[in-house]
Amino acid sequence: MITKKLYINGEWTESYSGKTYDVTNPATNKVISRVAYGSAEETKSAVKAARDAFPGWAALTAKERAGYLISLYELMMKEKEDLAKLITLEMGKPIKEAMGEIDLAAEYLLWNAEEGKRIYGESIPASTPSKRIQVIKQPIGPVGAITPWNFPVSMLTRKLGPALAAGCTVVVKPASKTPSCAIRLFELSEQANFPNGVLNLVIGSSKDIGNELIENPAIKKITFTGSTSVGKRLIEGSSHQVKKVSMELGGHAPFIVFDDANLEDAAEGAVVSKYRNSGQTCICLNRLYVHKSIKKQFENILTKKVKSLKIGNGLDESTEVGPLVDEEALKKVEHQVEDALKKGATLLTGGKRSDNKGLFYEPTLLANAASDMEISYEETFGPVAPIYTFETEEEVIMAANNTEYGLAAYFYTNDLGRSIRVSEKLEYGIVGVNDPAPTVVQAPFGGVKQSGLGREGGHQGIEEYLETKFVSIKF
Ligand code: NAP
Repeated sequence: MITKKLYINGEWTESYSGKTYDVTNPATNKVISRVAYGSAEETKSAVKAARDAFPGWAALTAKERAGYLISLYELMMKEKEDLAKLITLEMGKPIKEAMGEIDLAAEYLLWNAEEGKRIYGESIPASTPSKRIQVIKQPIGPVGAITPWNFPVSMLTRKLGPALAAGCTVVVKPASKTPSCAIRLFELSEQANFPNGVLNLVIGSSKDIGNELIENPAIKKITFTGSTSVGKRLIEGSSHQVKKVSMELGGHAPFIVFDDANLEDAAEGAVVSKYRNSGQTCICLNRLYVHKSIKKQFENILTKKVKSLKIGNGLDESTEVGPLVDEEALKKVEHQVEDALKKGATLLTGGKRSDNKGLFYEPTLLANAASDMEISYEETFGPVAPIYTFETEEEVIMAANNTEYGLAAYFYTNDLGRSIRVSEKLEYGIVGVNDPAPTVVQAPFGGVKQSGLGREGGHQGIEEYLETKFVSIKF
């Protein structure tokens, strides 16, 4: 089996120790690739390359940088099917969803290519006639980017797009479970002729690579997407050099169905939010709150929809729910369901591993959930939805906000006043009103509370890679 390599300063390289590791397909448990396993030394080289390439890259015009990003966008669209297939092979996502991820991922490059041309400064009236005050924006410097496996391509380009457009160079450390997605993207970046050192890829020991990115003073910013626990460690480490950080962390999304909602739409929305990516999405429904008066009716509609979902290998075009990413993820889901049933939840459908070989869990619905169940406060990351009931708007807002997380929240209503009141009171960075899939490139994505710091997407996303400088000119 050919070993896939790291990409440092425009060269493909083995790990310095010669170490490799194997990547498996969660739908079949079969080894699909062998990848170089790097560590701190390779990261040092990658950081040096990013540092050396920075002045040249930052000095290009925004239009010139946009040219590279647009070339990469076009190559991604040309390779869409192959890239999508890699996602499905490495982490199990149904191929249709993987194709959608590539569209979104490529769009982050295109949108930021244009947005880079709109990095405006300011001119401020001075306090004396012989002074001028200018505010300019400059790229922050070389960036260390660490990404997760659940959206292995779009989480990468959501960082690369704005960072590169702003004039930063980058060292990327992708998730160990999905290295080929990153490797293929870097092969395309080579075809797009990015200058050497602008983009560097290190795969391997997360702790050693992460520590080097934090401790190496040439890295001026850490941008991370992943779990809250790892994010906290990175924030702590970055504090020693007061390094800038952007953190896109975990979530525990409430999904509220009011009694005036269109129940058919709300049930369809719940299916989209919960079961896409087998429930392994940071913004997916974790707690489903249904008004007491419509509980039975809604549960019947939703149960029917969930029962009809087709589980299988993501490469099959008709698959709607693929496997979980690994055995550990499957065990966590099993444990949460067991705990909920022990504490009084009732099973409407699912509740066990599916008969397929591989790491499959049946799409599951639990009624009569309560706040003391682990599933009510721990991120689920699997195809299980617990249903709670409520009677008043105030009560459900309080329950929805009763979490350390604050990434995404959803509610369904046909009452205009309620849609404004509730969206303003939910303590979340993203709110979907009758909308289970709000993510778009032009809007700021990110969380409050322990779900993160900073935003990705929109004009806010590029700001994360810029420093503001105030220049006072006396003449
Ligand atoms: P994770 O375990 O935190 O890993 C994320 C990345 O961090 C991976 O590349 C991982 O490397 C690396 N990592 C792990 N330990 C590290 C350390 N000590 N130092 C430096 N890097 C380290 O998260 P995950 O399981 O991949 O992803 C799922 C989590 O991501 C969920 O909590 C989800 O909610 C969150 N997420 C958030 C967003 C958002 O936008 N807010 C989007 C997607 C996912 P290895 O793979 O080598 O371990």
